Amino acid sequence: MSSDPIERNSLQPRFWEKKPLSKLSRKEWEALCDGCGKCCLNKLEDEDTGEVALTRVACRLLDDESCRCTHYENRHQFVPDCIVLSPDNLDSHAYWMPRTCAYRLLWEGRGLYDWHPLISGRAETVHEAGVSVRGMTVSEFDTPEEDWEDHIIEEPQ
Ligand code: SF4
Ligand code: SF4
Repeated sequence: MSSDPIERNSLQPRFWEKKPLSKLSRKEWEALCDGCGKCCLNKLEDEDTGEVALTRVACRLLDDESCRCTHYENRHQFVPDCIVLSPDNLDSHAYWMPRTCAYRLLWEGRGLYDWHPLISGRAETVHEAGVSVRGMTVSEFDTPEEDWEDHIIEEPQ
């Protein structure tokens, strides 16, 4: 079992069910991320319908094995438009977030899945459940934007 790169110890059990997202501490907010890596995939948005399709074409900084950003702290030097998600901007971003993303699920008033590390107690369960991007991405360096449509992936609802 690999260790969890996200700090999730010493948190109140099921804290996300007891207070609104706007009242979470920084540590609680960060702990909600399941580590799936799907928000680091490129999306295609239909200008007319607003529909968003997720592709398996990954951001240049994503590590396909750990599903983590390789330069998280200084990522904006390389990817200036990478979003810093917060309770304040979730309303405007939730629509494009992956359907299994914990932030989107809670924003929609839904619960977390059993494979979420906060429930399973293990970071690996997101990979075991097949929900993460581990081993399934292609690089945006090798994939011209006109081909992204060929790499659209389906997500669980
Ligand atoms: S999609 Fe959501 S849960 Fe998954 S890595 Fe991104 S922020 Fe975390
Ligand atoms: S810069 Fe890092 S956090 Fe932002 S999308 Fe790319 S891999 Fe993800």
